[in-house]
Amino acid sequence: MSGILTLIADYIGLDDGLSVNNPANNQHIATVKDWSEDETQNAILAAANAFKSWSGQTAKKRARILQRWYLLMREHQEELAQIATLECGKPMAESRGEVVYGASFIEWFAEEGKRTCGTTIPTHAAGKRIMTLKQPIGVIAAITPWNFPLAMITRKIAPALAAGCTAIVKPAEATPLSALALQVLARKAGVPEHVFTVVTTTDPARIGKILTTHPIIRKLSFTGSTAVGKILMQQAATTVKKVSMELGGNAPFIVFGDADIDAAVTGALASKYRNAGQTCISTNRFFIQDGIYDEFINRFTAKVAALKVGHGDDPATQIGPLINSAAVQKVENIVSASVAAGASLILGGARHCAGDNFYAPTILGEVTMDMPAAHSEIFGPVAPIIRFRDEEEVIAAANDTPYGLAAYFYTRDLGRAWRMSEALEYGMVGVNDGDISTEVAPFGGIKQSGIGREGASCGIDEYMEIKYCLMGGLDNVNPVE
Ligand code: ADP
Repeated sequence: MSGILTLIADYIGLDDGLSVNNPANNQHIATVKDWSEDETQNAILAAANAFKSWSGQTAKKRARILQRWYLLMREHQEELAQIATLECGKPMAESRGEVVYGASFIEWFAEEGKRTCGTTIPTHAAGKRIMTLKQPIGVIAAITPWNFPLAMITRKIAPALAAGCTAIVKPAEATPLSALALQVLARKAGVPEHVFTVVTTTDPARIGKILTTHPIIRKLSFTGSTAVGKILMQQAATTVKKVSMELGGNAPFIVFGDADIDAAVTGALASKYRNAGQTCISTNRFFIQDGIYDEFINRFTAKVAALKVGHGDDPATQIGPLINSAAVQKVENIVSASVAAGASLILGGARHCAGDNFYAPTILGEVTMDMPAAHSEIFGPVAPIIRFRDEEEVIAAANDTPYGLAAYFYTRDLGRAWRMSEALEYGMVGVNDGDISTEVAPFGGIKQSGIGREGASCGIDEYMEIKYCLMGGLDNVNPVE
């Protein structure tokens, strides 16, 4: 067993179960438990039992435990980063950043849990008084993706636990080790057994069906593809669960002729090539205004051509592998179909010699809206560039998609900055910035990119119910003279 995995030694090394592989070389890393349906049902019952005492603690006590969990994540930054890189391939610098980002949700919600205040409402009738309470919703289920194997769990579990909920998490098949490491640290911090349980499986549909239909589970939080999100919403409808959905995107990145081009190139690199383009807020299509089209491409291409592709554990690496061969195949198909339809290949356009799952950073020019590169979610290191003439045209093109997660634009005109911010049909807009994720701001999409918000003060409300209490019979409070 690799020393990196010492933290989760109790959970790995089974003969049979869910096999975890390193996407950089396809080598086997570990085998973890493949939970049965009965075991999952039992975990839900145990979580319901644990809810009674966890929700009964003071928010302050829960906050202290969460703060310890936060500190443990920071203390174990290197180990957690190594595990994440091992199973999802991202460069170590990005994994270290993900540990800090993931931990920040625990720190943030440890505090927010103490501020889930109800209200008193001026009464509508003498002799009656009205107040509201915020209460934890109950047992929640989270289904999470492989591209941020730590942060997508803490972004859901920290607010849930802070609110007083108990949680079952089903991580992606590719990245169960990071989830188990989080569970180990949570226990160490004092999160009681059954308050946060990681359920690993080779069959997400089977376990997902239980999590989305079990009457005890009152809330489902999902991050993943729009297609799977729709299935889960339908399943969750059978018991009318509250849902949060963080789904696919098709982010536009718009550069106007008046923009600071160097700043736009820096933002473009961050928003396109982080995690080799495998994030739901990755830029999916660049719109560059006519007058600066060639200049932007020249400067951008010089930077992209210099990106170092390699295994995530090599400190020089900036672009790691894609998650698996199907992902590489998908990217290959999008690029070849777009080139066949008339896009010009400016850079890359092929697999990379670092290994089977690597794809070279690629730039496509003269892309048009009808090409697959402009409307399919690429989830890879490919930058399709579309030329545009004016603001009206680019707003229409940017909004012409069923998705509405993140959008970016660069301009130095303040009036245009407001117009664009208001006109773009997206849940998040980066103005002159390509890096928008932070625990203090509400993350989420509109249209088919999702429902609900994560992070920020409102993130905890996703795990709470508002109860309205009317107190009557109070005629003696303001006796009529
Ligand atoms: P991606 O294409 O990025 O892998 P998915 O939506 O397929 O995104 O996966 C995101 C999460 O959803 C993963 O944890 C995966 O195991 C889970 N998942 C996929 N299909 C189902 C399903 N039918 N029911 C429940 N969970 C599912």
